[in-house]
Amino acid sequence: MLTAFFYVLSSCYEEHRQIWFETQFKVLVMTYRIVCGLGPGYLKECLLPYKSKCVDINLSSCNDVSYSKTIYPNLLYQKSREVIEYSSEYILMGVLHNLLQGECNPDLRLLSCSIMAPRCEEGKIVKPCRNVCETLRKNCLPAFDAIDMAWPYFLDCDRFFVDEVEGCFDPLAKLRGETEFADDAVSESPTFIRFTHHSFPQMVRELKKVASRCSHIARMYSIGRSFEGKDLFVIEFSTRPGHHELFKPEFKYIANMHGNEVVGKELLTYLAQYLCSEYILGNVRIQTLINNTRIHLLPSMNPDGYELAAEEGAGYNGWTNGRQTAQNLDLNRNFPDLTSEFYRLTRIRGARMDHLPIPPSYWWGKVAPETKAVMKWIKSIPFVLSASLHGGDLVVSYPFDYSVHPLEEKMFSPTPDEKMFRLLSKTYADAHPSISDKSEMRCGGNFVKRGGIINGAEWYSFTGGMADFNYLHTNCFEITLELGCEKFPLAEELYSLWQENREALLKLMEMVHRGIKGIVSDKFGNPIKNARISVKGIRHGVLTADDGDYWRLLPPGTYIVSAQARGYTKVLKKVTLPSKMSRAGRVDFILRPLIGKPPPIVHEHYDPLEHFDPHAQQEPREDGGQSVQPREKPWWWSYFSSLDQHKPLWLLKHQ
Ligand SMILES: [Zn+2]
Repeated sequence: MLTAFFYVLSSCYEEHRQIWFETQFKVLVMTYRIVCGLGPGYLKECLLPYKSKCVDINLSSCNDVSYSKTIYPNLLYQKSREVIEYSSEYILMGVLHNLLQGECNPDLRLLSCSIMAPRCEEGKIVKPCRNVCETLRKNCLPAFDAIDMAWPYFLDCDRFFVDEVEGCFDPLAKLRGETEFADDAVSESPTFIRFTHHSFPQMVRELKKVASRCSHIARMYSIGRSFEGKDLFVIEFSTRPGHHELFKPEFKYIANMHGNEVVGKELLTYLAQYLCSEYILGNVRIQTLINNTRIHLLPSMNPDGYELAAEEGAGYNGWTNGRQTAQNLDLNRNFPDLTSEFYRLTRIRGARMDHLPIPPSYWWGKVAPETKAVMKWIKSIPFVLSASLHGGDLVVSYPFDYSVHPLEEKMFSPTPDEKMFRLLSKTYADAHPSISDKSEMRCGGNFVKRGGIINGAEWYSFTGGMADFNYLHTNCFEITLELGCEKFPLAEELYSLWQENREALLKLMEMVHRGIKGIVSDKFGNPIKNARISVKGIRHGVLTADDGDYWRLLPPGTYIVSAQARGYTKVLKKVTLPSKMSRAGRVDFILRPLIGKPPPIVHEHYDPLEHFDPHAQQEPREDGGQSVQPREKPWWWSYFSSLDQHKPLWLLKHQ
């Protein structure tokens, strides 16, 4: 300020005598304070003497702009180079490249320079063009959203930028010339995915970016937290994010349940980016999939374990380090064992074999918060089909995982839906070039004769697995994908792993449309929830969702299907599913009320999931992933912690 002030004095009054200067100095300071203290409107007049002076740009961050002269004060009324260099705006400009992980670089910096070191011609500021600002804002906003940062106020397109008719200049013109070739390259490969390992915060950022870029079809939500408090983030794709839609089946992929098996975690992160980009670009297959399916991706079910494994790093491939959670629990052994109960019921004629309750004794043991969160999630959404992504071998395995004979460690133990599970598993295996490769010397070569698929219990039996739980407690069919012998491969291998799995991942999602679907209602059209859909010869029913809609995965064939609900008569239908059917056949049922008293309601076991501890969990958030809890400052805030005052609070989205 003082430097500037001396400049005013010397330029206006250089002919005056020094003595006058000294006596008048205090008066002038007061006058200046009175006039200039009134606000920006008066500032222009105050600083009139600058107007005719264009000066060299001497800011290190702006030395490569397409012009050489600037003027003080700049468009932010910063009056000297020093003031600019110590401002939070300038500091932000310097670190933005790192914060946004190289995105929008150097465009954002050049745009910021056009405000902080504005172009000067004949003593006047030439303002930058509004359309350049608007385009950049649109392209870069997802990157800001991903780190929870607000768009900087000094890049307000309406406030600091002008239209062409007002004589603006394009601050990025030079850049465009230089990157013409790069732009072309981008348009040829539209889905830009960085095939690297992502730390937990990096993964969250990528997912947030996708949710922001594709907000019309994607949403991020948390199903709860890990033992160490990391959110178990899910990204959802649907034409109505956040809502179950009538007749729209729900699909899920879960990865990184074992923290050291990381391929699935990366694949699901890439898949999210791929689905978003391809949908926007008009890929008909992806649009059809998302328009007709609600897809949920949980890339990391065990983020605490992942962190431990990542410390060891790729390549070292710690076979067990990080497999368990921070509580030392193996999540794929931590689910309730309903399979033993299933085997017991098999011997009882007419016993109900599906939607088995969780035995109360389960809750006496250690239940991981991650397991609890997933159980709650599985119960809250009527999932139809799912896969859990693992590593360590190359094969697709399907339930049951727990042997029909408790002492037999390798024993074929099929579910009543063996045919369908085989079809699902074969679909993935056949679409995967390495799993379908016939060489027995390769990773997973011992499964070649079986076509790359195996019944879980026949491979090795274990209890408390997630797939068995899905099948026996809910409507959902879940298979297990073992994606390769290396649990934590080098980053260089990730691209080919994506190439190998992409088609298979899509094909399996499309399988959710096999079989039949429909609605069960009364004669007035009121939907009946929890009606049981049974197929003759398959001892496993599915229940209708809240809106009365259901999905019954079935391989091609002819079936007798029935629907029944408490207090209503049973209705039977004969259904034929031809072998080439890409969409589920629609089979609706209208049930008539039973004459007389409905049978008494049987009370089921106490289920802690119904009485959930709200502090241990976070409900899926309706507002697109914004926490309702008091917020900590974002991680990047530390960049500005050195500033004593003038901290850029305007960058905080949630103050
Ligand atoms: Zn595993």
